[in-house]
Amino acid sequence: MAFVAAPRSMETSRQLGARALEVMPGPHSNLPGYELFRPIWITRGGGAHLWDVDGNEFLDYMCGLGAGTMGYGNTVVLDAVAEQLYRLPYLDAARRHPEEIPLAEKIIRHVPSAEKVRYLLSGTEAVQLVLRLARAYTKRNVFIRFDGHYHGWLDNVFGGGVDPDPAGPPYALYRQDDLFSSKGRDVASEKQSFKLPWNDIQILERTLEKHGDQVALILMEAINANGGSCWPRPGYLERVRELCDQYGIVLCFDEIITGFRVGLGGAQGLTGVTPDLTTLGKGVAGGTPLSVVCGKARIMDLCADRTVIGAGTFNGYPLGVAAALATISHVEKDDGVFFRNMAAVQARLVGGLREIARRHGRPMLVQDCPGVIMFYFANLERAWNMGEWYSIADHATGERYRQLLFENGVLILFRGRWFFSGAHTNEDVDRTLEIADHCLARL
Ligand code: PLP
Repeated sequence: MAFVAAPRSMETSRQLGARALEVMPGPHSNLPGYELFRPIWITRGGGAHLWDVDGNEFLDYMCGLGAGTMGYGNTVVLDAVAEQLYRLPYLDAARRHPEEIPLAEKIIRHVPSAEKVRYLLSGTEAVQLVLRLARAYTKRNVFIRFDGHYHGWLDNVFGGGVDPDPAGPPYALYRQDDLFSSKGRDVASEKQSFKLPWNDIQILERTLEKHGDQVALILMEAINANGGSCWPRPGYLERVRELCDQYGIVLCFDEIITGFRVGLGGAQGLTGVTPDLTTLGKGVAGGTPLSVVCGKARIMDLCADRTVIGAGTFNGYPLGVAAALATISHVEKDDGVFFRNMAAVQARLVGGLREIARRHGRPMLVQDCPGVIMFYFANLERAWNMGEWYSIADHATGERYRQLLFENGVLILFRGRWFFSGAHTNEDVDRTLEIADHCLARL
């Protein structure tokens, strides 16, 4: 089927969309920002491709919002899950099952901060366990998080902006027009965290000089995948590590996206800075729900004697654990050749996108980390944090471009974010570049 084939019939999807609205509050169950321009209903996937109910084929760069590092229909994951389904008479984790141990051993082998490992289901939950651990360990309450970083949808971490001139402590500023905002939040949660610009060490130093003795946790994406694939400035993470040690603060890298996506050791492996706690999710189990909190034994062991509870019926459920064990066993082969191959194909896409932007005379921000690409309408060579590009970006054109790509069979996320997987081939990339070129010419 030709990819450049607009207009495509999406009549069956349209009918299903109407039917869905009768019984569901919105066509899907995630953030509104992830919505496509028309709801499409997917019936199958293979590699980096998806097919909808009308038979349209899509090249997919949404990758299950980053969970799909291995591609769709990956037999490594599917076989592991199927084996568990046949073998086990139960799906809950009320009984121990032996695969939990080798999985923890593998995580400890690869993730520098991991000395002990605990399983949960979603990234959101993992972050909440980190908060409890840090508060129990430090006996302090407030935590620091950063603009452009995402840590789940619960009240205490969702949305909020940086207060540019706080009279008192720099609490997150909540505004209802923020995409990452919601009515119905507990107002008390507003005073749980300070929100700061990321990658600015002076602001962090100044905040800690005033409030360091109250801070339980510094929580961040060590490579800010959610904020536009921004890398830490040279020396930034090292200094954050020093400050945490100086003030007795727990440091957590939220590696829900970067874990087993940017490489075997995650962002901490690439940057060489080791946090106290780490969250993993998404790619850790090849697209199957599973999340992990791992870290220093002295903190993790608070879970051992029930000082800290992180309970859940399905925590450590056999299917997710088996999928994670199979995924890590696959990607660790030959010292992570999976990631090296993926990087080579990704470089072809990123180089091609740069070339297309140049040829069309479009000033675009093009930057990436392994597995996450930013291609957006902002006149900037490089952004060190989301604040730098977000205010100057042409969001209306960005959304029009995303719509054109969608109509021509390429799925990307809002705000110019493309996820990449080990299943994308050079051929997929070449087709994508043709379409990206075609769409930029028609913008
Ligand atoms: N942390 C990060 C860095 C994320 O990107 C996400 C989700 O996108 C989460 C936490 C929350 O994970 P989940 O959506 O599985 O609850």
